[in-house]
Formats: sequence, structure tokens, C-alpha cells
Amino acid sequence: MVNRELYNQKLIENLHDGVYFVNSEYVIKFWNTAAERITGLSSAEVLETSCKDNLLQFTDAQDQHLDGAHNPLFVSMMHGKAEENDAYFTRRDGKKIHLFMRANPVLDSSGSVIGGIHLFTDLTGKPQESRLRELEKIAMLDHLTHLANRAYIEKEFHSRIQEKNRYQLSFGVIFIDIDFFKNINDTYGHDAGDMVLKRVAESFTKSARPYDFFGRWGGEEFVAIIRNVDKQTLIMVGERYRKLVQSLDIEIGGKKLEVTVSMGATMIEPADDMSSVIQRADKLMYVSKNEGRNRLTTDIEMS
Ligand code: GH3
Ligand code: MG
Ligand code: MG
Repeated sequence: MVNRELYNQKLIENLHDGVYFVNSEYVIKFWNTAAERITGLSSAEVLETSCKDNLLQFTDAQDQHLDGAHNPLFVSMMHGKAEENDAYFTRRDGKKIHLFMRANPVLDSSGSVIGGIHLFTDLTGKPQESRLRELEKIAMLDHLTHLANRAYIEKEFHSRIQEKNRYQLSFGVIFIDIDFFKNINDTYGHDAGDMVLKRVAESFTKSARPYDFFGRWGGEEFVAIIRNVDKQTLIMVGERYRKLVQSLDIEIGGKKLEVTVSMGATMIEPADDMSSVIQRADKLMYVSKNEGRNRLTTDIEMS
């Protein structure tokens, strides 16, 4: 048992992504171990250099440097909002690594940009599905849907809250509940209900960006943790998944089923722990139910 705990701990450590921070002059102030591992650049050589220098050059698939309008960090700091895209990095040993990146500006209390946070994850030979298979081995996946189970959701919250306290990396939470799911069971049987659960979960897994984590909270309820987003981006991401479920082509006995979800979305607050943020998202989800279902409700003011 102790060995298994240690193994889990290690595996989760290994899933960690590259993170760096810059100040308003684009000078790199923090560079984590995963960033060292992914790029091969040590923090000693990177810290205090400008990420506009040649050392840290991300490119597109055609080896064109991502500068100005194509670099998510610059764009996010210029416009004060989260940005994401695919990119490549060529290591000194010549190995070209495919990355997914999400950048978020750091704002002071008056809303001015005082820096940026950049997360990047190595997609080379490590698609999300194979990461999930690693987790399956250690029994942290729900058997029916193959999403993270409750225990893994708890671990994920723990890591994200630690990350937030250490690096000020914010995240959003979306509580998702399938609409009128009992009707599906009652009309078509439990196996049909199971199939619908699998299809909805699979739609999340297949279209999840690397910083979007999905778990099965229980029954027909799911929780998504969306990392390094601002409020507006959280709503955009949630809406993307809501529409995705609505557009699924699910048939039972030649009949097309309309499957929809109601959502509640909220950002983590300084005083939150897992239960308080889930409770808030759950309440917002109920507002969506009361207002007619197939919608997302948020407590986020759209300033
Ligand atoms: P609402 O739109 O208000 O959410 O209505 P609902 O019918 O989706 O909600 P309700 O909570 O009444 O029903 C949820 C149902 O989900 C009841 C339960 O039997 C069913 N359920 C829970 N877990 C599973 C499962 O693993 N497989 C199947 N087939 N059904 C399940
Ligand atoms: Mg429910
Ligand atoms: Mg329901």
C-alpha cells in the first residue's frame, strides 16, 4: 500500500507541466523543473534573461519563430487575457518537441499587466489518452467512463490549490450534470444510460485541452478543472463543452437522443478549498436547471 502511494505520487509529479513567469519587461523570474526537463534549459541559464532573447524560441510546425502576434505570452500580456495554442521547441540535441501552451497575464489590483504566466506541456509521443492509460493502471479512473474518479479529482484539487498558492496560477471549476438523465434510464434501460454516460465522457476526453481536467463526480455528474484561465476564458471553455454535448450524435434503436448538460462555472477564490468551490459550482448548476437546462450559469461578473 505504501509503495502504491509512493508510485502514485511519483506518477502525478511526472505529469506536471512546464511553468515560467515573466515580469512586465518579459524577464523570466521563475522556471520550474518540468520546464527544465522539457526544454533541456536549466533555470540557471534562463532566469533573468528576456524571453524575447534567442534562448527561448518557440516556433510553429514550419520552424517560423513565434514572435509578436503569434506568441501566446506576448499576446496575452498585450491584451490582458488568456491565450492558448500549439507550438514547437527545438532542443539543443536537435529534438523537436510538440507543445501545447496556455498563457495568462498577471494583473495588479488596478487591472494593469505586471507580468505573465506561461504553462506548456510536452505532447510529443504523450497524447492525453496515453496519460490516462497510465492512470488507469493505478486505479484512479472511473471504470465506466474512464474519466478520473472521485479520489483522483480530490488529488487534482489538492495539486491545483498548492500550485495556486505557490505560483498564483488560478483555475476555474465547472460542475456538469446531464439533463433528464433518469428519463433515459426509464425509457431505454440502464445499459442505454451507461452508453450515454460513456459517450458524454468520451466527448470531454477527446476534445479536452491539456489544461482541462475532467472527472466523474458521481452518477451523471462531472467536474471540470480548467487551469490558467481568466474568467471570460472559463465561460468560453465551458460553453465549448456544453455545445459539444448538445451536438453529439447519440442513437438508440435508430432514434436520435437529445442529450444536454447544465453547468455551473466559478473561479477559485483565495479562501476556497475543494468543498467550497464545488459547492458554489453545484449551486450555479442548479440555477441552470431552474432556468431551463442546457445552459451555463456563472457567478462571474462580465466586466
Ligand atoms: P435533472 O435534469 O434535474 O438533472 O434530472 P435527472 O433525471 O438527470 O436527475 P436525477 O438526479 O433525478 O437522476 C439521475 C439518475 O442517474 C438517477 C440514477 O439512477 C442514474 N444513474 C446514476 N448513476 C448511473 C449509472 O452509472 N448508470 C446509469 N445508467 N444510470 C445512473
Ligand atoms: Mg444529478
Ligand atoms: Mg441530472
